[in-house]
Amino acid sequence: MTSRASVVWLALLFATPLAAQTPAPIPLAADPVYAQCLASLRGVAEKQGITPATFDKHTAGLTADMTVLDLLDAQPEFTTPLWDYLSGLVDDQRVADGRAALDAHRDLLARVSQAYGVDAETVVAVWGVESDFGRVFGKRPLLVSLSTLSCFGRRQPFFRGEFLATLKLLQDGDIQPEGLSGSWAGAFGHTQFMPTTYARIAVDFDDDGRRDLVGSIPDALASTANYLVRSGWRTGESWGHEVKLPPGFDVAQAGRTNRKPLPAWIAQGITRIDGQPLPADDRAAALLIPTGANGPAFLVFKNYDAIYAYNAAESYALATALLSDRLRGGTGIAAAWPTDDPGLSRVQRRQLQTLLLARGYSIGAADGMVGTLTRRAIQAEQVRLGLQPADGRAGAKILAALQAEGPPVVPPPSSTP
Ligand code: CA
Repeated sequence: MTSRASVVWLALLFATPLAAQTPAPIPLAADPVYAQCLASLRGVAEKQGITPATFDKHTAGLTADMTVLDLLDAQPEFTTPLWDYLSGLVDDQRVADGRAALDAHRDLLARVSQAYGVDAETVVAVWGVESDFGRVFGKRPLLVSLSTLSCFGRRQPFFRGEFLATLKLLQDGDIQPEGLSGSWAGAFGHTQFMPTTYARIAVDFDDDGRRDLVGSIPDALASTANYLVRSGWRTGESWGHEVKLPPGFDVAQAGRTNRKPLPAWIAQGITRIDGQPLPADDRAAALLIPTGANGPAFLVFKNYDAIYAYNAAESYALATALLSDRLRGGTGIAAAWPTDDPGLSRVQRRQLQTLLLARGYSIGAADGMVGTLTRRAIQAEQVRLGLQPADGRAGAKILAALQAEGPPVVPPPSSTP
Protein backbone atom coordinates (compact mmCIF):
# COMPACT_ATOMS: atom_id res chain seq x y z
CA MET A 1 0.00 0.00 0.00
CA THR A 2 1.09 3.59 0.25
CA SER A 3 2.64 5.44 3.15
CA ARG A 4 -0.90 6.63 3.76
CA ALA A 5 -1.72 3.09 4.68
CA SER A 6 0.46 3.18 7.77
CA VAL A 7 -1.58 6.07 9.07
CA VAL A 8 -4.67 4.07 8.29
CA TRP A 9 -3.34 1.14 10.18
CA LEU A 10 -2.47 3.16 13.23
CA ALA A 11 -5.85 4.80 13.21
CA LEU A 12 -7.53 1.43 12.94
CA LEU A 13 -5.72 -0.32 15.68
CA PHE A 14 -4.98 2.31 18.24
CA ALA A 15 -7.77 4.81 18.05
CA THR A 16 -10.78 4.64 20.28
CA PRO A 17 -13.65 3.40 18.11
CA LEU A 18 -14.69 6.41 16.15
CA ALA A 19 -18.32 6.13 17.07
CA ALA A 20 -17.33 6.61 20.69
CA GLN A 21 -15.45 9.86 20.27
CA THR A 22 -16.60 11.52 17.07
CA PRO A 23 -19.71 13.66 16.84
CA ALA A 24 -22.12 12.86 14.05
CA PRO A 25 -21.04 14.32 10.69
CA ILE A 26 -22.34 17.79 10.10
CA PRO A 27 -24.51 17.70 6.96
CA LEU A 28 -22.95 19.96 4.41
CA ALA A 29 -24.88 19.00 1.30
CA ALA A 30 -25.53 22.63 0.66
CA ASP A 31 -21.85 23.51 1.00
CA PRO A 32 -21.21 25.28 -2.31
CA VAL A 33 -17.50 24.39 -2.26
CA TYR A 34 -18.27 20.69 -1.89
CA ALA A 35 -21.04 20.78 -4.49
CA GLN A 36 -18.82 22.62 -6.97
CA CYS A 37 -15.96 20.24 -6.27
CA LEU A 38 -18.13 17.18 -6.95
CA ALA A 39 -19.41 18.78 -10.13
CA SER A 40 -15.86 19.27 -11.37
CA LEU A 41 -14.92 15.71 -10.41
CA ARG A 42 -17.82 14.41 -12.48
CA GLY A 43 -16.05 15.57 -15.64
CA VAL A 44 -12.69 14.18 -14.53
CA ALA A 45 -14.36 10.87 -13.73
CA GLU A 46 -15.90 10.62 -17.19
CA LYS A 47 -12.46 11.01 -18.79
CA GLN A 48 -11.37 8.01 -16.71
CA GLY A 49 -14.18 5.80 -17.92
CA ILE A 50 -16.60 6.41 -15.05
CA THR A 51 -19.97 7.14 -16.61
CA PRO A 52 -22.05 10.12 -15.45
CA ALA A 53 -24.71 7.61 -14.46
CA THR A 54 -22.26 5.80 -12.14
CA PHE A 55 -21.02 9.07 -10.73
CA ASP A 56 -24.50 10.41 -10.07
CA LYS A 57 -25.71 7.14 -8.56
CA HIS A 58 -22.95 7.04 -5.96
CA THR A 59 -22.68 10.76 -5.18
CA ALA A 60 -26.38 11.57 -4.96
CA GLY A 61 -27.10 12.72 -1.42
CA LEU A 62 -23.46 12.46 -0.39
CA THR A 63 -22.49 14.88 2.36
CA ALA A 64 -19.04 15.94 3.42
CA ASP A 65 -17.74 14.82 6.79
CA MET A 66 -15.32 17.46 7.99
CA THR A 67 -14.17 15.33 10.93
CA VAL A 68 -11.87 13.36 8.59
CA LEU A 69 -9.87 16.55 8.08
CA ASP A 70 -9.03 16.56 11.78
CA LEU A 71 -7.67 13.04 11.40
CA LEU A 72 -5.69 14.04 8.31
CA ASP A 73 -3.86 16.69 10.29
CA ALA A 74 -3.87 15.03 13.71
CA GLN A 75 -0.65 14.94 15.66
CA PRO A 76 -0.57 12.07 18.14
CA GLU A 77 -1.25 13.27 21.68
CA PHE A 78 0.64 10.27 23.08
CA THR A 79 3.55 8.30 21.67
CA THR A 80 3.49 4.52 21.46
CA PRO A 81 6.72 2.55 21.91
CA LEU A 82 7.39 -0.35 19.55
CA TRP A 83 6.94 -2.95 22.29
CA ASP A 84 3.40 -1.69 22.83
CA TYR A 85 2.53 -2.07 19.15
CA LEU A 86 3.95 -5.56 19.07
CA SER A 87 2.42 -6.75 22.35
CA GLY A 88 -1.03 -5.90 21.00
CA LEU A 89 -0.52 -7.06 17.41
CA VAL A 90 1.35 -10.28 18.14
CA ASP A 91 -0.41 -11.54 21.25
CA ASP A 92 -1.46 -15.10 22.10
CA GLN A 93 -5.00 -14.38 20.99
CA ARG A 94 -3.90 -13.35 17.47
CA VAL A 95 -1.59 -16.36 17.24
CA ALA A 96 -4.48 -18.65 18.23
CA ASP A 97 -6.82 -16.93 15.77
CA GLY A 98 -4.16 -17.21 13.07
CA ARG A 99 -3.67 -20.92 13.68
CA ALA A 100 -7.45 -21.38 13.50
CA ALA A 101 -7.44 -19.49 10.19
CA LEU A 102 -4.64 -21.72 8.87
CA ASP A 103 -6.78 -24.75 9.70
CA ALA A 104 -10.05 -23.36 8.42
CA HIS A 105 -8.57 -22.26 5.08
CA ARG A 106 -5.93 -24.95 4.60
CA ASP A 107 -6.98 -25.96 1.06
CA LEU A 108 -7.44 -22.39 -0.09
CA LEU A 109 -4.06 -21.33 1.33
CA ALA A 110 -2.39 -24.28 -0.39
CA ARG A 111 -3.85 -23.14 -3.71
CA VAL A 112 -2.76 -19.54 -3.05
CA SER A 113 0.71 -20.78 -2.18
CA GLN A 114 0.82 -22.89 -5.32
CA ALA A 115 -0.28 -19.98 -7.50
CA TYR A 116 1.88 -17.22 -5.99
CA GLY A 117 4.72 -18.88 -4.12
CA VAL A 118 3.93 -17.15 -0.83
CA ASP A 119 3.60 -19.42 2.22
CA ALA A 120 0.33 -19.70 4.15
CA GLU A 121 1.76 -18.32 7.41
CA THR A 122 2.88 -15.07 5.81
CA VAL A 123 -0.46 -14.55 4.03
CA VAL A 124 -2.39 -15.22 7.24
CA ALA A 125 -0.07 -12.95 9.25
CA VAL A 126 -0.78 -10.04 6.89
CA TRP A 127 -4.52 -10.76 7.15
CA GLY A 128 -4.29 -10.82 10.95
CA VAL A 129 -2.39 -7.56 11.23
CA GLU A 130 -4.40 -5.72 8.56
CA SER A 131 -7.95 -6.57 9.61
CA ASP A 132 -7.73 -9.04 12.53
CA PHE A 133 -8.72 -11.81 10.09
CA GLY A 134 -11.65 -9.87 8.70
CA ARG A 135 -13.00 -8.56 12.00
CA VAL A 136 -11.95 -4.91 11.69
CA PHE A 137 -12.63 -3.22 8.36
CA GLY A 138 -13.02 0.35 9.59
CA LYS A 139 -16.29 2.15 10.26
CA ARG A 140 -16.13 5.25 8.09
CA PRO A 141 -18.38 5.37 5.02
CA LEU A 142 -15.80 5.18 2.24
CA LEU A 143 -17.37 7.53 -0.31
CA VAL A 144 -18.06 10.16 2.33
CA SER A 145 -14.47 10.17 3.61
CA LEU A 146 -12.82 10.07 0.20
CA SER A 147 -15.08 12.72 -1.37
CA THR A 148 -14.47 15.02 1.59
CA LEU A 149 -10.71 14.54 1.41
CA SER A 150 -10.93 15.07 -2.37
CA CYS A 151 -12.50 18.49 -1.89
CA PHE A 152 -10.92 19.81 1.31
CA GLY A 153 -7.58 19.61 3.07
CA ARG A 154 -3.99 19.37 2.01
CA ARG A 155 -3.92 16.12 0.01
CA GLN A 156 -6.78 16.61 -2.43
CA PRO A 157 -5.01 15.30 -5.58
CA PHE A 158 -4.04 12.07 -3.79
CA PHE A 159 -7.53 11.44 -2.45
CA ARG A 160 -9.22 12.32 -5.76
CA GLY A 161 -7.35 9.40 -7.27
CA GLU A 162 -8.61 7.15 -4.47
CA PHE A 163 -12.18 8.45 -4.75
CA LEU A 164 -12.32 7.90 -8.50
CA ALA A 165 -10.74 4.44 -8.14
CA THR A 166 -13.53 3.55 -5.70
CA LEU A 167 -16.19 4.67 -8.17
CA LYS A 168 -14.54 2.56 -10.87
CA LEU A 169 -14.54 -0.52 -8.60
CA LEU A 170 -18.25 0.08 -7.96
CA GLN A 171 -18.97 0.53 -11.67
CA ASP A 172 -17.12 -2.68 -12.51
CA GLY A 173 -19.15 -4.57 -9.92
CA ASP A 174 -16.10 -5.64 -7.89
CA ILE A 175 -17.57 -4.12 -4.73
CA GLN A 176 -21.07 -3.21 -3.57
CA PRO A 177 -22.05 0.25 -2.30
CA GLU A 178 -24.15 -1.05 0.61
CA GLY A 179 -22.26 -0.70 3.87
CA LEU A 180 -19.01 0.18 2.09
CA SER A 181 -16.78 1.41 4.90
CA GLY A 182 -13.14 1.60 5.78
CA SER A 183 -10.59 3.62 7.66
CA TRP A 184 -10.98 7.39 7.54
CA ALA A 185 -8.32 7.54 4.81
CA GLY A 186 -9.93 4.92 2.60
CA ALA A 187 -8.25 1.56 3.26
CA PHE A 188 -10.90 -1.16 3.35
CA GLY A 189 -11.72 -4.83 3.25
CA HIS A 190 -9.87 -7.89 4.49
CA THR A 191 -6.54 -6.65 3.13
CA GLN A 192 -7.05 -2.94 3.90
CA PHE A 193 -5.97 -1.95 0.40
CA MET A 194 -6.35 1.65 -0.69
CA PRO A 195 -8.68 1.81 -3.72
CA THR A 196 -5.89 2.48 -6.26
CA THR A 197 -3.93 -0.44 -4.83
CA TYR A 198 -7.08 -2.54 -5.08
CA ALA A 199 -7.49 -1.56 -8.73
CA ARG A 200 -3.89 -2.51 -9.49
CA ILE A 201 -3.40 -5.64 -7.37
CA ALA A 202 -6.69 -7.38 -6.51
CA VAL A 203 -7.42 -10.73 -8.15
CA ASP A 204 -10.57 -12.82 -8.59
CA PHE A 205 -9.49 -16.12 -7.02
CA ASP A 206 -12.91 -17.70 -6.56
CA ASP A 207 -13.76 -17.20 -10.24
CA ASP A 208 -17.07 -15.45 -9.77
CA GLY A 209 -16.05 -12.63 -12.10
CA ARG A 210 -15.60 -10.07 -9.31
CA ARG A 211 -12.51 -9.01 -7.35
CA ASP A 212 -14.18 -8.75 -3.98
CA LEU A 213 -11.84 -8.01 -1.08
CA VAL A 214 -14.76 -7.26 1.22
CA GLY A 215 -16.91 -10.34 0.76
CA SER A 216 -14.53 -13.01 -0.54
CA ILE A 217 -11.78 -14.52 1.60
CA PRO A 218 -10.30 -16.37 -1.43
CA ASP A 219 -10.02 -13.09 -3.36
CA ALA A 220 -8.55 -11.34 -0.30
CA LEU A 221 -5.89 -13.91 0.51
CA ALA A 222 -4.83 -14.33 -3.11
CA SER A 223 -4.65 -10.55 -3.51
CA THR A 224 -2.42 -10.35 -0.44
CA ALA A 225 -0.09 -12.92 -1.98
CA ASN A 226 -0.20 -11.05 -5.28
CA TYR A 227 0.82 -7.84 -3.52
CA LEU A 228 3.81 -9.54 -1.91
CA VAL A 229 4.87 -11.10 -5.24
CA ARG A 230 4.68 -7.70 -6.96
CA SER A 231 6.87 -6.35 -4.15
CA GLY A 232 9.64 -8.85 -4.84
CA TRP A 233 8.70 -11.86 -2.70
CA ARG A 234 11.11 -14.80 -3.03
CA THR A 235 9.56 -18.21 -2.67
CA GLY A 236 10.96 -20.35 0.12
CA GLU A 237 13.16 -17.67 1.70
CA SER A 238 12.72 -16.43 5.27
CA TRP A 239 12.03 -12.76 6.02
CA GLY A 240 14.98 -12.69 8.41
CA HIS A 241 16.12 -13.80 11.86
CA GLU A 242 16.57 -12.38 15.33
CA VAL A 243 20.32 -12.11 15.90
CA LYS A 244 22.87 -11.43 18.60
CA LEU A 245 25.44 -8.69 18.14
CA PRO A 246 29.01 -9.17 19.33
CA PRO A 247 30.36 -6.84 22.07
CA GLY A 248 31.51 -3.52 20.68
CA PHE A 249 29.56 -3.90 17.43
CA ASP A 250 29.31 -0.66 15.44
CA VAL A 251 25.54 -0.05 15.43
CA ALA A 252 25.90 2.78 12.92
CA GLN A 253 25.64 0.02 10.29
CA ALA A 254 21.99 -0.62 11.15
CA GLY A 255 19.11 0.39 8.89
CA ARG A 256 16.79 -1.36 6.45
CA THR A 257 18.35 0.26 3.40
CA ASN A 258 21.99 -0.43 4.36
CA ARG A 259 22.17 -3.85 2.72
CA LYS A 260 25.33 -5.93 2.65
CA PRO A 261 26.05 -9.50 1.57
CA LEU A 262 25.21 -11.83 4.43
CA PRO A 263 28.85 -13.06 4.83
CA ALA A 264 29.90 -9.45 5.59
CA TRP A 265 27.61 -9.47 8.65
CA ILE A 266 28.65 -12.95 9.72
CA ALA A 267 32.32 -11.92 9.49
CA GLN A 268 31.65 -9.24 12.11
CA GLY A 269 30.47 -11.87 14.58
CA ILE A 270 26.68 -11.66 14.19
CA THR A 271 24.93 -14.96 14.97
CA ARG A 272 21.34 -16.14 15.22
CA ILE A 273 20.11 -15.71 18.77
CA ASP A 274 18.64 -19.25 18.81
CA GLY A 275 22.02 -20.78 17.96
CA GLN A 276 20.95 -22.01 14.51
CA PRO A 277 23.26 -21.14 11.60
CA LEU A 278 22.46 -18.18 9.35
CA PRO A 279 21.87 -19.09 5.67
CA ALA A 280 25.09 -20.06 3.88
CA ASP A 281 24.84 -17.82 0.86
CA ASP A 282 25.56 -14.23 -0.09
CA ARG A 283 22.03 -12.83 -0.18
CA ALA A 284 21.66 -9.15 0.70
CA ALA A 285 20.82 -8.49 4.33
CA ALA A 286 20.17 -5.45 6.51
CA LEU A 287 20.47 -5.10 10.27
CA LEU A 288 17.54 -3.72 12.28
CA ILE A 289 17.88 -2.54 15.86
CA PRO A 290 14.52 -0.77 16.16
CA THR A 291 14.90 0.28 19.81
CA GLY A 292 18.66 0.74 19.90
CA ALA A 293 21.68 -1.38 20.69
CA ASN A 294 20.21 -2.66 23.97
CA GLY A 295 17.05 -4.09 22.40
CA PRO A 296 16.34 -6.97 20.00
CA ALA A 297 18.29 -7.08 16.72
CA PHE A 298 17.30 -8.64 13.40
CA LEU A 299 19.00 -9.47 10.12
CA VAL A 300 16.39 -9.06 7.39
CA PHE A 301 16.31 -10.18 3.77
CA LYS A 302 14.39 -9.42 0.59
CA ASN A 303 11.08 -10.78 1.89
CA TYR A 304 11.13 -8.34 4.78
CA ASP A 305 11.20 -5.56 2.20
CA ALA A 306 8.18 -7.12 0.48
CA ILE A 307 6.26 -7.08 3.76
CA TYR A 308 7.45 -3.53 4.43
CA ALA A 309 6.13 -2.47 1.00
CA TYR A 310 2.65 -3.59 2.05
CA ASN A 311 2.50 -0.87 4.66
CA ALA A 312 5.57 1.30 4.93
CA ALA A 313 6.23 1.27 8.67
CA GLU A 314 8.90 -0.70 10.47
CA SER A 315 6.52 -1.49 13.34
CA TYR A 316 4.00 -2.94 10.90
CA ALA A 317 6.56 -5.03 9.02
CA LEU A 318 8.05 -6.42 12.21
CA ALA A 319 4.63 -7.28 13.60
CA THR A 320 3.71 -9.18 10.45
CA ALA A 321 7.06 -10.97 10.21
CA LEU A 322 7.01 -11.94 13.90
CA LEU A 323 3.40 -13.11 13.71
CA SER A 324 4.28 -15.33 10.74
CA ASP A 325 7.09 -16.86 12.81
CA ARG A 326 4.72 -17.52 15.71
CA LEU A 327 2.29 -19.18 13.28
CA ARG A 328 5.14 -21.48 12.20
CA GLY A 329 5.55 -22.51 15.82
CA GLY A 330 8.19 -20.00 16.87
CA THR A 331 8.24 -18.70 20.42
CA GLY A 332 8.67 -14.99 19.72
CA ILE A 333 11.45 -12.51 20.36
CA ALA A 334 14.20 -13.83 22.63
CA ALA A 335 15.91 -10.59 23.66
CA ALA A 336 14.21 -8.21 26.06
CA TRP A 337 12.96 -4.80 25.01
CA PRO A 338 14.79 -1.96 26.78
CA THR A 339 12.04 -1.26 29.29
CA ASP A 340 11.05 -2.28 32.81
CA ASP A 341 7.38 -1.69 31.94
CA PRO A 342 6.41 -4.19 29.23
CA GLY A 343 3.44 -3.75 26.90
CA LEU A 344 0.06 -5.43 27.25
CA SER A 345 -1.76 -8.01 25.18
CA ARG A 346 -5.31 -7.19 24.11
CA VAL A 347 -6.67 -9.37 26.90
CA GLN A 348 -4.64 -7.37 29.43
CA ARG A 349 -5.74 -4.10 27.82
CA ARG A 350 -9.35 -5.13 28.34
CA GLN A 351 -8.55 -5.96 31.98
CA LEU A 352 -7.00 -2.51 32.41
CA GLN A 353 -10.00 -0.82 30.78
CA THR A 354 -12.38 -2.77 33.04
CA LEU A 355 -10.47 -1.48 36.08
CA LEU A 356 -10.69 2.07 34.71
CA LEU A 357 -14.42 1.73 34.08
CA ALA A 358 -14.85 0.53 37.66
CA ARG A 359 -13.22 3.76 38.77
CA GLY A 360 -15.77 5.84 36.91
CA TYR A 361 -13.89 6.81 33.78
CA SER A 362 -16.04 7.24 30.68
CA ILE A 363 -13.85 5.38 28.22
CA GLY A 364 -16.50 3.49 26.27
CA ALA A 365 -16.39 -0.29 26.08
CA ALA A 366 -13.50 -2.41 27.37
CA ASP A 367 -12.57 -3.40 23.82
CA GLY A 368 -8.79 -3.61 24.13
CA MET A 369 -8.33 -0.62 21.81
CA VAL A 370 -6.30 1.98 23.64
CA GLY A 371 -7.44 5.36 22.37
CA THR A 372 -7.17 8.87 23.67
CA LEU A 373 -9.92 8.48 26.30
CA THR A 374 -8.30 5.37 27.78
CA ARG A 375 -4.90 7.05 27.79
CA ARG A 376 -6.20 10.15 29.55
CA ALA A 377 -7.78 7.93 32.19
CA ILE A 378 -4.53 6.00 32.64
CA GLN A 379 -2.67 9.29 32.98
CA ALA A 380 -5.08 10.46 35.70
CA GLU A 381 -4.60 7.17 37.57
CA GLN A 382 -0.81 7.40 37.22
CA VAL A 383 -0.96 10.86 38.80
CA ARG A 384 -3.26 9.64 41.58
CA LEU A 385 -0.98 6.69 42.35
CA GLY A 386 2.23 8.69 42.03
CA LEU A 387 3.53 6.54 39.17
CA GLN A 388 6.23 8.08 37.01
CA PRO A 389 6.18 8.94 34.19
CA ALA A 390 2.50 9.85 34.04
CA ASP A 391 2.45 9.34 30.29
CA GLY A 392 -0.92 7.64 29.76
CA ARG A 393 0.76 4.45 28.56
CA ALA A 394 -1.09 1.15 28.88
CA GLY A 395 1.76 -0.87 30.36
CA ALA A 396 2.30 -3.66 32.86
CA LYS A 397 2.99 -1.31 35.79
CA ILE A 398 -0.31 0.57 35.81
CA LEU A 399 -2.22 -2.69 35.27
CA ALA A 400 -0.43 -4.33 38.21
CA ALA A 401 -1.00 -1.26 40.40
CA LEU A 402 -4.74 -1.18 39.74
CA GLN A 403 -5.07 -4.96 40.13
CA ALA A 404 -3.26 -4.77 43.48
CA GLU A 405 -5.58 -1.99 44.60
CA GLY A 406 -8.68 -4.04 43.85
CA PRO A 407 -12.07 -2.30 43.75
CA PRO A 408 -11.95 1.49 43.87
CA VAL A 409 -11.28 2.82 47.38
CA VAL A 410 -11.71 6.48 46.55
CA PRO A 411 -14.78 8.24 45.19
CA PRO A 412 -14.57 7.87 41.41
CA PRO A 413 -13.98 11.03 39.38
CA SER A 414 -17.16 12.33 37.76
CA SER A 415 -15.76 11.72 34.29
CA THR A 416 -12.71 12.28 32.12
CA PRO A 417 -12.50 15.56 30.21
CA1 CA B 1 -14.22 -13.21 -6.80
